Amino acid sequence: MAFANGELGYQHAVVMARAAEHVGAAAVRKEETSLLQAAQTMDPGQFTTVAKNFEHRVDAAGALAEANHAYQRRYFHIGEPEDGLVRLDGVLDAEGGAILRSALQPFMKPVKDDTRSYGQRSADALVELGRQGSSGSKRDGAGPRPQLVIRASLDTLAGVKGAPAGELEGGGTVPAETVQRYACDSAISRITGQGELEHELNHASRTLPAATRRALEARDRHCVFPGCTRPLNWCDGHHLVWWTRGGATALPNLALLCRPHHRMVHEEGWRLDRHKDGRFAAIPPPRPVMPHARSA
Ligand SMILES: [Zn+2]
Ligand SMILES: [Zn+2]
Repeated sequence: MAFANGELGYQHAVVMARAAEHVGAAAVRKEETSLLQAAQTMDPGQFTTVAKNFEHRVDAAGALAEANHAYQRRYFHIGEPEDGLVRLDGVLDAEGGAILRSALQPFMKPVKDDTRSYGQRSADALVELGRQGSSGSKRDGAGPRPQLVIRASLDTLAGVKGAPAGELEGGGTVPAETVQRYACDSAISRITGQGELEHELNHASRTLPAATRRALEARDRHCVFPGCTRPLNWCDGHHLVWWTRGGATALPNLALLCRPHHRMVHEEGWRLDRHKDGRFAAIPPPRPVMPHARSA
């Protein structure tokens, strides 16, 4: 065998062995010359495709059975939040995997000076897919589309020391800063509470009227964080003077921010200012808000 002569890499040899297992050694032997030729010029991924094509030619019913077996094994599991993290786990058949991969692609592009790892960008893309997918293809900001229901006290919303966390309807808690971010743009969440909060929420005009949203989109066109060009459907309407601190829901006090940058402003201590000439400046936090700062 070529593998014994050291002509075939380990991964290629595994693909060959699998093919022999599936369609029989005799069938593989008949095609050995062309398979080996392919193995020597291709990476393992490309070679797998060649081997699978070969298997399909020799035994189409077996290939179908294998695909059906793989499909049966599909599952996806979303865990309960633990220490602020939700573990995802699962396998998809080849078709499902390809569909998900191509659906994530548009959300994967790094922005200028992106410090996120590939894994972090993939995670953000998955969440963004969920966020935009459940709101329909087009967002005009006019209608309510609460995707996230958060239960919070007025103290939490106001950032008062000693306030409880916000509670997610689906389970889990979020810090006050996250509640405040969601309070920024009512189109993306519903915040519920009891008594005084309900009263407060109903009387405050944190809702972006459709005309204001349209004017904001016409002015900013995309995320205004310096260097970022994420399009409208990524963006929330951020209050420069936070709504929770009495900032008005009016154009001069609003700015479009994509979700990752909106998060940086509320949860990671960045400040977004608008200069007189209309340009925006992002001021980094005096001290990074990092997980290990918890003991402080
Ligand atoms: Zn905001
Ligand atoms: Zn942005």
